[in-house]
Amino acid sequence: METKLQLQNSSADLFARALQVAPGGVHSPVRAFKSVGGTPVFFDRAQGALLWSVEGREYIDFCQSFGPLLLGHRDPDVSEEVRAAIDTAWSFGACEPYSLALAEWITARLPWVQKLRFVSSGTEAVMSALRVARAATGRKRILKFEGCYHGHADALLVKAGSGLAGVAASTSAGVSEGVASETLVSPLDDEAALQQVFAEFGHEIAAVILEPLPANYGLLIQRREFLDEVVRLARAHGSLVIFDEVISGFRVALGGMAELLGIQPDLVTYGKVIGGGFPVGCYGGRRDLLDLVAPSGPVYQAGTLSANPVGMRAGLATLQKIERVNAYAQLETKTAQFCDGLNQQLQQRGLPYQMTRFGSLFWLHGQTEQPIRNIEQIPAEHGKRFGPIFHAALERGVYLAPSGYEVGFLSLAHTDELLARASTALIEAVAAARS
Ligand SMILES: *Cc1c(COP(=O)(O)O)cnc(C)c1O
Repeated sequence: METKLQLQNSSADLFARALQVAPGGVHSPVRAFKSVGGTPVFFDRAQGALLWSVEGREYIDFCQSFGPLLLGHRDPDVSEEVRAAIDTAWSFGACEPYSLALAEWITARLPWVQKLRFVSSGTEAVMSALRVARAATGRKRILKFEGCYHGHADALLVKAGSGLAGVAASTSAGVSEGVASETLVSPLDDEAALQQVFAEFGHEIAAVILEPLPANYGLLIQRREFLDEVVRLARAHGSLVIFDEVISGFRVALGGMAELLGIQPDLVTYGKVIGGGFPVGCYGGRRDLLDLVAPSGPVYQAGTLSANPVGMRAGLATLQKIERVNAYAQLETKTAQFCDGLNQQLQQRGLPYQMTRFGSLFWLHGQTEQPIRNIEQIPAEHGKRFGPIFHAALERGVYLAPSGYEVGFLSLAHTDELLARASTALIEAVAAARS
């Protein structure tokens, strides 16, 4: 029965049908394989570090749903909690104890999250945090960094404009000039540019938003001094500091980069790992700022499915297990071994590629002499060169995220045996893509 269904539904057939009913055949752009070429693989089953396509092929998964699955697919403890949730209630639109449990768990551990509000995505968390920042400061401008991604809120679909330093241009049709012009953009890793933007616009900047570990345009690990300067300038000019930790929160440490850096942001956004693979986001921070949010304050923000009990319970089960098994130490060792091993072999074989790594995140890119800290330093043609590597890896049973600008993720379910297999496949893929 199942086999018959699979034979009728090859990925190519399903994609042809999907193209008829959804833009580009997908519900989020990178899934369409546009930057790597070819037809997307359709998956219909996953377990741990493995994925299976509708054709029944097995893949070692380094995309992990773009980050949420720190324990891997369908972790047994999370699975049990989700089943219990389904058997109890999956939505109330009313008060319930599950979001309280998750909120108390988080606020007890992350001192900079004095209060929080759950939403359903990272984008929503960021949109809401910016609204709070504008309300709190009475200022209209937001400063972001080129190479940081913050979801698809209008104000953040911008890049550096060609005119005045800092002034932005939109990167998406449908974003009005007015909205784009309220956002300022500065390069990463550049204190002088930052000082210039603050000198010019500091008194108008409601908040500086940044990924303290930029991981959505490759992995652009920042110097400590640069991050300190961002915070110093923001504080000096009365601007709030928003850490967008949607990807780094609960991924590099329970408290994300805020914990590792010892920097307390005024507001912080979470997503991805916080929901254990279900649609959960959250914004939090200083009590006085969160008290501006309705119904206690004048900033409106709401959600029909906000704090959905399935997501809340999956999230809490995930975070509790991470803490219980000391996941970060294990992930650090695993990922360091995997990436160091790969780098050694790449070098031995004379393949000019390398892995940049932070915690359990990695990024494969052409070899550079210096660490890559901003988008200008990314090797030319990086995006184009990644396509053949991606497909050569896919042929060898390894699924990377289908874009050279996405990072890879390890989960606790990536065993040494799977990592050894993946490592061999990736080396061969890099070699094959070059020949
Ligand atoms: C993924 C991500 C977002 C957007 O979250 P969605 O849940 O996709 O809306 C925002 N900021 C960062 C840093 C992210 O990694």
